[in-house]
Amino acid sequence: MENQQTAIVTGAFGGIGTAIAKQLANANYFVIAVASERRSQADYDAWLNQTQINPNQVKALFLDVTNVQACETQLTEVIVERGRIDVLVNNAGITRDTSFKKMSHTQWSEVINTNLNALFNMTHPLFAHMCANKYGRIINISSVNGQKGQFGQANYAAAKAGMIGFSKSLAYEGARAGVTVNVVAPGYTETPMVAAMRQDVLDNIKAQVPMQRLASPDEVAHAVVYLASEKAAYITGETLALNGGLYMN
Ligand code: NDP
Repeated sequence: MENQQTAIVTGAFGGIGTAIAKQLANANYFVIAVASERRSQADYDAWLNQTQINPNQVKALFLDVTNVQACETQLTEVIVERGRIDVLVNNAGITRDTSFKKMSHTQWSEVINTNLNALFNMTHPLFAHMCANKYGRIINISSVNGQKGQFGQANYAAAKAGMIGFSKSLAYEGARAGVTVNVVAPGYTETPMVAAMRQDVLDNIKAQVPMQRLASPDEVAHAVVYLASEKAAYITGETLALNGGLYMN
């Protein structure tokens, strides 16, 4: 379709990523849905069925976002194939929660690699391309816990806070070229990541949220779609908190 923009979304098969991919497709973007190499074509088919995204408007890319070489190779191919990439949503993420005393170096580095180093791996091949096109939207999914810290999440909070510093710095570098770089920082959101938490922990979290509920993935996706749009041209280096009042910066 003429004038159709292309958006790349990592963690696209996850709870929030699915909502982002679906809403971008509804807003007429061509979506490159990045899923980990753990996923298969059968997972993609099931996801397509679940989201009801038009198969002509989406393509799966099985890519480990922690693999710098694979990201560079595959994203370079995607640029050639699509001609132009307009939007990048860095959404893939993991947790390996435990108190710092018990935290292994593996738990530390897996989280830093997936949540923070992947920002370099995914953004570096695309940023120069966007600057040359004089247009781009980069949206990084951080977390309320990157803003306020959280017991048992020294690794995760370090990575999610790092995303904010990265985004502000890159916002300076992209500004003249019309490439905006922003962060969406959700509070606890109803996804498999949160479903894995103990019920009493979850009840306790809800009780602390002034709105007394979790976010829905769609609420997060609405914010992303706005920041991805041409209308958000003058917003850059911003962190949009979406946390029901849990943390007001
Ligand atoms: P999910 O676990 O549902 O989705 C995360 C996605 O990241 C998965 O689809 C996973 O792929 C993908 N992923 C993980 N590692 C890699 C990798 N090495 N390469 C490629 N893809 C990878 O989590 P959510 O949807 O809940 O979270 C999405 C983002 O939002 C994360 O960054 C998270 O930190 C953040 N966030 C979530 C909150 C919440 O309460 N849920 C709150 C605040 C922020 P696969 O399925 O193949 O494993």
